[in-house]
Amino acid sequence: MSVNKYFLNYPHYIQTQVMQLIQSNKVKTYLSNKYPTPHNINSDKALYQYANDLKQQYLRNTPQISKALYEKQKDLIQNALGTHTFISRNHGGKLKSKHEIRIAQSLKSAPSEMLKMLVVHELAHFKEKDHNYS
Ligand SMILES: [Zn+2]
Repeated sequence: MSVNKYFLNYPHYIQTQVMQLIQSNKVKTYLSNKYPTPHNINSDKALYQYANDLKQQYLRNTPQISKALYEKQKDLIQNALGTHTFISRNHGGKLKSKHEIRIAQSLKSAPSEMLKMLVVHELAHFKEKDHNYS
């Protein structure tokens, strides 16, 4: 059994730990012990507010968030937990851009750290559109 693709770039000992957790079916227990506090961001409106607050705090000079919402996982690309969409449109001679953040609905019941990690990741795409794989 090969290590989960998400951990390929981690040190070997972490890959081993992850595999042991997966094989002994203890991932959930491990995570809920480590991150016991759930978030209370339960609506799209609250998600927008939450993302916007983080943006104001850490990424002031970036474009406005047009939309932030929870979306069913199957509608997100390749089982992603979050996506960032940047749309640039010519609107009556003016270039209008929209930045949208979508977070998997399953994360409504995630620990607060996990939601924060994803929202921060998607916000980072406001500055850096693509992943740097090098
Ligand atoms: Zn990304």
